[in-house]
Amino acid sequence: MIFSYSQISRYVRCPRSYRYRYLDGWQEKETRAATVFGRAFENALGAYFAHEDCGATLFKEWAAFREAPLRYKNGESWDRLLHQGIRLLERFARDDRIRIHRPEDHLQVKMARNLPGGHEFVAYLDAIGELDGQHCLIDWKTTSSRYPEEPAGLLSLEPQLTCYSWVSGIAEVALVVFVRKRIPEIQYLRTSVSEQQRRDFGQLVEDSVQQIEAAQFLPHSGIRFPQNGCVSCSHLGLCLNNQRLIDANLIRKAGASDFDWLDELD
Ligand code: SF4
Repeated sequence: MIFSYSQISRYVRCPRSYRYRYLDGWQEKETRAATVFGRAFENALGAYFAHEDCGATLFKEWAAFREAPLRYKNGESWDRLLHQGIRLLERFARDDRIRIHRPEDHLQVKMARNLPGGHEFVAYLDAIGELDGQHCLIDWKTTSSRYPEEPAGLLSLEPQLTCYSWVSGIAEVALVVFVRKRIPEIQYLRTSVSEQQRRDFGQLVEDSVQQIEAAQFLPHSGIRFPQNGCVSCSHLGLCLNNQRLIDANLIRKAGASDFDWLDELD
């Protein structure tokens, strides 16, 4: 089997949700405007590094969803997201802090590692390049709120960056956060992932794969007042046997164990 970050992180979060998604085929309907827009924006970044008109690319990609029944959060609209995206691209070009040499090779870079039992782990890194002249792997995020920067060192615990560091062997990692707000902001955050963290992550992957092979899919809601992970879980309707929630959030597809690459672009 081939595993991805999305699969392992879902298993760690709640094994029952993993079973629903990858064995039973219950996929979340892709209706969140912010997620769809994030993908269009990442394609526009690709155009930027290819020295193409990134604003035109963003418009073209996003225009495909102009009439789509997407869910917009309060204050969001198709026009507003486009406007914010264009301003973020302008800001990104002005900052000029990221370099990607040979973008055709160093954007959406496929990395793979063999796992015990003949399995494989595959990841697509957003980019490998330089931030302020320092070589690092780079992950883009589009979001409506800033990534928390306190306490110091928080970024080094970010599991997706740790995963990409483990799969690529690159210790220096950066998160470039495009914050969609009234005055757009871009956070350039950098940290190092230690050898021990990479070993620990590899162990987490192997342990998870073993448990998946042993069909361990107990629910693990993580409920602890006042946080409740089930509330944001797309499979809540299945656990509550609530047909209205199932119809609203899920679609069942055959051949469920696909790669789920798109989740990684959220
Ligand atoms: S609703 Fe809660 S228990 Fe059920 S799959 Fe989701 S996280 Fe797990």
